[in-house]
Amino acid sequence: MNVLVLGAGQLARMMALASKPLNVNVRAYDVGSRTVVDPLNLAQSYGDLAEGIAFADAITAEFEHIAHDVLAQCEASGKLHPSSQAIKTGGDRRLEKGVLEQCGVANAQHKIITTEQDFADAISELGLPLILKSALAGYDGKGQWRIKDASQAADIWKDIEAFFAGANEPAAQAVVAEQMVPFDREVSLVGARDAKGNTQVYPLVENHHTDGVLTVTVALAQNEALTAQAKAMFDKVADALNYVGVLAIEFFQVGEQLLVNEIAPRVHNSGHWTQQGADTCQFENHIRATTGMPLGSGELVRPTAMINILGEDEVPSEVLSVPSVHLHWYGKGKRAGRKMGHINLSADTNKALVERLYQVAQLLPSAAFEDIQQYAAELAKKY
Ligand code: ATP
Ligand code: MG
Repeated sequence: MNVLVLGAGQLARMMALASKPLNVNVRAYDVGSRTVVDPLNLAQSYGDLAEGIAFADAITAEFEHIAHDVLAQCEASGKLHPSSQAIKTGGDRRLEKGVLEQCGVANAQHKIITTEQDFADAISELGLPLILKSALAGYDGKGQWRIKDASQAADIWKDIEAFFAGANEPAAQAVVAEQMVPFDREVSLVGARDAKGNTQVYPLVENHHTDGVLTVTVALAQNEALTAQAKAMFDKVADALNYVGVLAIEFFQVGEQLLVNEIAPRVHNSGHWTQQGADTCQFENHIRATTGMPLGSGELVRPTAMINILGEDEVPSEVLSVPSVHLHWYGKGKRAGRKMGHINLSADTNKALVERLYQVAQLLPSAAFEDIQQYAAELAKKY
């Protein structure tokens, strides 16, 4: 069985690594060079998109910002999973909000704005503070503005206009203005759905961000009720999109209530812990779903945490001397802030895991792993 992944980054790489034992061969379409490559050896190329499509039994994507003509060409082959509509929904906050509303899934109150007048209306209708997010091409907190006071509106609008002007398709752009949610924490649910509608979800996990970028995910044996609430929303969204593959949903938790922040139609950074902590990892389940194999269990086998390695191409080797620690490098060139790899660590109990997280954090250079120790210390107080 052969799979073509649209996108040739670390997610395609980890899908390829998880696929080999299943006798599935993965190739990746590099959207920059428009060539098909080996995701484990980017120098090895296999021709153009048409050749990639011919090679594949199934086609999928590792990110949602893929040119629509590429999606259309893949969909025409009948091999693309999830559908182009699902992928586009993840890449356009207007479509995303539309699906959430259509499913009746709780999310932040919002308004779509394209003019300065819309912006003024959003401020009066939704109140302040607001967070403004570009409809297209936003990721890792880019294309976002925060407004606390109406006096900032004119300057922020200038910034937004400049952002629109620099975008690929300025006319297609818009901004979603959202009420700022006073959340207690950020959590996410990753799950897989197959073509028959069967699902396997992983437990709800807690996500810690540093400067708007995910730095730590913690998967603990915990709160069944909250996972059930998230699972109900996952089912609604996945059914509405007739989804096939792994889908991630990010939530804000406010008290015992979850609000959807955003959805990602793909394997997700907050699911990397599943490589060591779940019965079947997200990469394998995505490949199983998209190639028509039965899904594997998403059950937590042991509490596990993931630490992102950002902008560093090495970590102290002592990290590996801590029990149940695993390193996953992506083989990418070093660049400030770039996702270079991650560390997974596991333990038998929640308490042992948060202690181990603190232990690993102490071994990591604080310049590159700024607030991980502090986060681990806070978790240790709760468990
Ligand atoms: P990523 O790709 O890292 O998930 P993103 O660019 O897709 O980021 P969001 O997830 O929408 O953007 O927002 C980034 C972060 O900003 C969130 O994780 C959250 O911390 C904060 N944030 C976003 N929307 C809101 C909101 N409505 N209220 C409060 N905080 C928010
Ligand atoms: Mg996000």
